[in-house]
Amino acid sequence: SKAVRLDKLLANLGYGSRREIQGLARAGGIVRDGAPIANAGARIVLDPDLPARMRIDGEFLDPLPGLCLMLHKPLGVTCSHKEAGPLVYGLLPERWRRRDPALSTVGRLDKETSGLLLLTDDGALLHRIISPKASVAKRYRVTLDRPLKGDEGAILASGTLMLEGEDRPLLPVGFEPDGATRCTVTLTEGRYHQVRRMFAALGNHVTALHRDRVGGLDLPEDLAAGDYRLMGPDEIAALF
Ligand code: URA
Repeated sequence: SKAVRLDKLLANLGYGSRREIQGLARAGGIVRDGAPIANAGARIVLDPDLPARMRIDGEFLDPLPGLCLMLHKPLGVTCSHKEAGPLVYGLLPERWRRRDPALSTVGRLDKETSGLLLLTDDGALLHRIISPKASVAKRYRVTLDRPLKGDEGAILASGTLMLEGEDRPLLPVGFEPDGATRCTVTLTEGRYHQVRRMFAALGNHVTALHRDRVGGLDLPEDLAAGDYRLMGPDEIAALF
């Protein structure tokens, strides 16, 4: 496996400057398999089990680069610095916001959309998930302002619906009614505000939106709004 200098590894994980990490190492704050590593220039093999074997100031080492998280996005937080309001990154440990490579969201959910949001620092994985070629399905629970008319399923399935200001129709969208003013839709595209604009084009208005599935991965019932969890290889594979 790959080896890196300890001070570089920890600096890139956001633990501090290389100087600060050298000081921490000398002070005995970096321990692997029970033994302090006093020399921050030591080369460390990046085994996947390193976070379980290394303690920094007594705490498990953070996840190594190449991670993917699932987050239950609450309402009121944004995925983009361009929008006003607190960012989803504020839900992660403070140090994680200083990671290099940085964590970024896999696509975006609107500020007023809740549900399953993935984050990764792995650019290749990110592109695999959002690539139109992969056509990873995203499922949304939708609450509407006005009752369904009954023609929505056929129109969405037809692949002819045009969104305001666009010149290419939407790919077919899966639709299941769920009472008069609720439904479930499944998209393989991710156009800007797609679900809200889709229902505007159908003469309705979305009042609540929640994503509960990406590919074959369901938002776990025990993952509360605002909480996140590291994804394992099986969960990543379930996306495709
Ligand atoms: N469609 C929307 O309109 N908003 C989202 O957040 C996701 C899909």
